[in-house]
Amino acid sequence: MAKSVGRTRFLGSFVDTLPEPSLPEVAFAGRSNVGKSSAINALIGATVARVAKTPGRTQALNLFEVDEAWIAVDLPGYGYAKVSKTMREGWKGLIEGYLANRPTLRLVVCLVDPRVPPQEMDAGLLHGLADAGIPTLVVATKIDAFTRTRRVDALRVLATAHGIDLSRLIGFSAHEGIGKDEVLNAIRAAVR
Ligand code: GDP
Repeated sequence: MAKSVGRTRFLGSFVDTLPEPSLPEVAFAGRSNVGKSSAINALIGATVARVAKTPGRTQALNLFEVDEAWIAVDLPGYGYAKVSKTMREGWKGLIEGYLANRPTLRLVVCLVDPRVPPQEMDAGLLHGLADAGIPTLVVATKIDAFTRTRRVDALRVLATAHGIDLSRLIGFSAHEGIGKDEVLNAIRAAVR
């Protein structure tokens, strides 16, 4: 049964067959533990984003309808080290299958952790999306971990490493609400 959370409605967890494409979709992708659930919760008030996030459990795509205007798609976190190769490949197939075949996909919000060196798996995802012509927004999570003066430097390192314009990289903190309006504005522009 669909569950209401403010103006966000949980549509369900899907493993293979997704609902028919309808409203424009914005997908959220990132390495496991990057802060994706916290970001989704902060952005759309979807406390149900914690569904099935325990590594080792069946991974699924969690869909949330927001403001009756767009659908947030929570993709499984990738790169979790302690699972089998088969499971990792299953997640990869799930993520790549969605990204390649969803006609209503408008934007992928790629979450990256500015506290660790630029990650190969993030670079791989960004390249794949660029090759496929899918618009992306890169969001650096947990930016509150840096003092204000160090934030721009942290963002610049990521922008340079991933070859993206600083204007497409947003410093974000779920804990302190930093960057929330910027991310929501970019999403609204993409789903208009
Ligand atoms: P997920 O695995 O990507 O869904 O990540 P979670 O949202 O569960 O967060 C992973 C860890 O990062 C948790 O320990 C969070 O408390 C922490 N975290 C998430 N968002 C922030 C943030 O904005 N600032 C800081 N400092 N830590 C955060």
